[in-house]
Amino acid sequence: MEFIKLNDLNRHTRACREAVMAAITRVVDSGWFILGPELEAFEREFAAYCGAAHGVGVANGTEAIELALRAFDVGPGDEVVIAANAGFYAATALRAVGATPVYADVDERQLTLAPAAVAAALGPATRAVIATHLYGRMAPMPALKSVLAGRAVALIEDCAQAHGACLDGVRAGAWADAAGFSFYPTKNLGALGDGGMVTCRDPDVAQRLRRLRQYGWSQKYVVVEGPARNSRLDELQAAVLRAKLPHLDRWNRRRREIAAAYAGVAHPRIRHPAVTGDDYVAHLYVLRTGQRDDLGRHLHANGIGSDVHYPVLDSRQPVWRNARFAPLPVSEAAVGEVLSLPCYPELDDAEVARVCAALASWQAP
Ligand SMILES: *Cc1c(COP(=O)(O)O)cnc(C)c1O
Repeated sequence: MEFIKLNDLNRHTRACREAVMAAITRVVDSGWFILGPELEAFEREFAAYCGAAHGVGVANGTEAIELALRAFDVGPGDEVVIAANAGFYAATALRAVGATPVYADVDERQLTLAPAAVAAALGPATRAVIATHLYGRMAPMPALKSVLAGRAVALIEDCAQAHGACLDGVRAGAWADAAGFSFYPTKNLGALGDGGMVTCRDPDVAQRLRRLRQYGWSQKYVVVEGPARNSRLDELQAAVLRAKLPHLDRWNRRRREIAAAYAGVAHPRIRHPAVTGDDYVAHLYVLRTGQRDDLGRHLHANGIGSDVHYPVLDSRQPVWRNARFAPLPVSEAAVGEVLSLPCYPELDDAEVARVCAALASWQAP
């Protein structure tokens, strides 16, 4: 019996190998590798897919957030409200621009930013709020927008886990002032290496982002913006992503199907996530249980991988040393209970059934 890994990129690449190889050949034969026609086309195609006006390709998802913050002039002395349970990516971007995180607690059911907690975290120094669509589930964007209405606070989506997720008919990446995407290989839309994009609606913001991703240039060798960076999505990765984009909706449907199967296993010690609707694209299937380690061992004994996303809250990371943050009771409770199951489009029905059977047979201690 084959071990069911948490994720399997070999299988994924096999499923779209021909189109990917054709894209690679096209770029190799073109002799053009940075900021060219493949990136321009992918920026257009991906922004259109999201329903966003502009897409600016960058080197990875963390720099997408960093550059989005810079495009809204967020810097030292500014506060940015973020969740503490989302893997420190937004915090990394904040630290890069010199801004200060203010951690707000998450909603008990969704594990995404709780609008009331965000409202309480706002202050005179708040310049931005980053809403992470955690595990592939959309944060409550309408409520967050009303919390911020009338304030000079930029709303930024972290869509690194939510390509294609759709809330009230509007996709992730089209809700806020700007949105960051990652195309890290394991994401719902993944490159063969690092990649990212910022989507936005304001053409001036898009222009600033195009400058910020390339040394602050307005044109070759003329520096008009900064502090800037070199953060570009290369032609090879853009071409690969173009080849994969037409499959994204189908892959997301399969992810949701698998999530629905897991959620159907009733167990007194397991709390399943809500898996209804297009607002969840099942990037990760994350259940909760008070006996996480025991369930992980039981799954492993049944030939099934699992992992924890994420084992340490941002606000508890050693890097903060003596910094003090407000208590986050919901985030604190969840961090010790979350467990991720294999959930990717290439799992077959027999494997999904094996995971379901293993969950059902777990004798919690
Ligand atoms: C993966 C991820 C990122 C960072 O993307 P990179 O491309 O690895 O920099 C940011 N936010 C979330 C929620 C992620 O899952």
